Parts: sequence; C-alpha cells; structure tokens
Amino acid sequence: MRAAVLKEHSEVFAEGLPRRYPNLPLKEEPLDLEDLPTPEVGPNQVLIRVKACGVCYTDIDIIEGRVECSLPLVLGHQIVGRVEEVGFETKGRVKVGDRVGVAWIGWSCGTCRFCRSGLENLCSEFKGTGCHINGGYAEYTTAYEDFTYLIPSEGGLEDYEIAPLLCAGAVGYRALKLADVRDGFRLGLFGFGASAHIITQVVRKLYPSVEIYVFSRSEEHRDLARKLGAEWAGHPQENPPKKLDRAIDFTPVGEMVSRALELLERGGKLVINVIRKQTPTNLDYVKHLWMEREVKSVANVTRKDVKELLSIALKNNVKPEVKTFKLEEVNKALKLVKGAKIRGSAVLLI
Ligand SMILES: [Zn+2]
Ligand SMILES: [Zn+2]
Repeated sequence: MRAAVLKEHSEVFAEGLPRRYPNLPLKEEPLDLEDLPTPEVGPNQVLIRVKACGVCYTDIDIIEGRVECSLPLVLGHQIVGRVEEVGFETKGRVKVGDRVGVAWIGWSCGTCRFCRSGLENLCSEFKGTGCHINGGYAEYTTAYEDFTYLIPSEGGLEDYEIAPLLCAGAVGYRALKLADVRDGFRLGLFGFGASAHIITQVVRKLYPSVEIYVFSRSEEHRDLARKLGAEWAGHPQENPPKKLDRAIDFTPVGEMVSRALELLERGGKLVINVIRKQTPTNLDYVKHLWMEREVKSVANVTRKDVKELLSIALKNNVKPEVKTFKLEEVNKALKLVKGAKIRGSAVLLI
C-alpha cells in the first residue's frame, strides 16, 4: 500500500537549535512516500481502507520532535474510511463495509484511575494514533475496535468533511467544554485555523447568545471568522470593544497566553488548546492572573468528546471548510498548515 512515512525528525535539530523553539520553515520533504505491506489486523482491531485523513498541527509537532513518537511512523489521526476486515476477539460493534472514524486517542488502558473516572485522555499508557500507532497517511490502517466511531453513511457530510471533526473539532470541543461557556458570555478565540473555525460553528449552534471575538494575524482567517458568525475579528494586538469572559488559545505562540489573559474580564478563564508552544510564555501575577483569572491546558481527547462532537456536527450541519490534497501532496499540505495558509482544514484524499 502507498503510505507517507516519517523516518527522522526535521533537520532543524541537526543544526543544534533548541528543540522547543524551531520557529523555522518546515523541512522541504519531511515525509517519504513508500510502498509498505498492508498492515495485519491484530486482536481487537479492524483493518480500515482509508478514504480521507485530516492534516493537524500536531503532525508538525511530531515531525519537528516536540512530541515524542515511535519512528518510523505513518502520521495522521483524523481518519475516515471503510472497514475492510475485523480481527479476532472483536465485539461485532463494527462490520465490514461500515464507515468509521479514528481520532487521536488510539488506545488507553481502561483500568487506571484516570481511565475509570472519565479522564482516559490523561492515562499514562495513552497511545496516540499516528504517533504510537501507525495512522492514516496511507491506503490502509488498523485501529482498535473500541477506539473507532461509527459514522452513518447518509449523514450528509462527506468523508473529507468528517475528517477534521475528529481532532480539530473534537479537541476544540473539549477546550470549549473546559472553558465552561455560558449563555451571554463573550468568548475570545486566538488563532483561527482548523479547530477554531469548527468551534465557531458549534458555539453559534449551541450558544446563540455568546458573542465571539476572533484574534488572527491573517486577514483571510478574520474574513472567514466574520462569515461564520463572529461578532468581531481583529489582529491579536488590537483591543476588542469589550473584555472577554472566556478565551481559547489555538496558537503555537507562547506570548499569546499573556495577551489573552490581559484581555480577560475579572473571574475569566483561558483554555490553551495546543500540545506545544514554540516560544516562551511569561506571566505577571497582577497583570495576568490577579482577580481570579484562570488558565487551563487541554491534553488529548476522550472518546466521549469525539462522539459528542460528531453528533453535534451531524445534527446541526456543522461543516468544516476543507482544502483537499492527494496523498502524494502531503508535504505541500504540511507546509501550508505550518504557515497558517489554509482557510479551514487541510485533508488528504486517499
Ligand atoms: Zn490533531
Ligand atoms: Zn488508563
């Protein structure tokens, strides 16, 4: 089968630059296109013929070594495909021919205190799809049956529209839940890529009275934000007309944390929806935290988050804006994602 494989981290590190702050263009061709044997389906697993796979900023974090994964590796954790084969010891929940999705949570132990309390995203044995388990930048992939999501074929959304919901949507939705948004609140979104543009649509459906303020350096992204129903969109250095009750930071920029906190109302809360920041975050207690302002990060995603987001999206016709690429164009897609040059989400059609 055709697959895009990560064999080594970006050359940025060979130049002796600090791993956390590579703020440099992506290596020209970070993934190699290869012919690999079709994976063998193991116990409790299913084999999936991949149809679409979303490209996520986390893939850049993996390529550049900020997120540790096992190499060589097939990336890709927003997978939509059809079940081709079911392995031994599966429960019969999914059948050959079913349309299924696979998200970042590829496996968790199910027995630790985090897993038992609904926080499987914090499981210390957590395995990420396209990180500890080969992912969907390939014609076929295997996934644990319990970590697949059945998606109705007549759901109204195409495979390439479902794909971005599985990480950009689901993790953004987790951030939204952690932000504890309520009717009438003013919500700030910092950065307007794949995740924020889905979450804007979700907020518009679930909390029509919430005012959305979007901060982005890209005029094109600010336009999209207004089109999707944001009340206000400006440059991160611009001051919004009102203070924010809640904020979600989607950017890899460390300084955005202090900027968002500065704009929070008393008692406000900031949720940071990124795996790694690429520049330092400096906080001043009085300026950024005093008056009961809160900060929280988002780590991974639970199956419940994915299921809820998929159901909200299918019910309310939440539709990501998508730019599609062929598998052979994966390196081009990654480069555009790194440069925040995609309007909405980038998805590989396979
Ligand atoms: Zn992701
Ligand atoms: Zn666990």
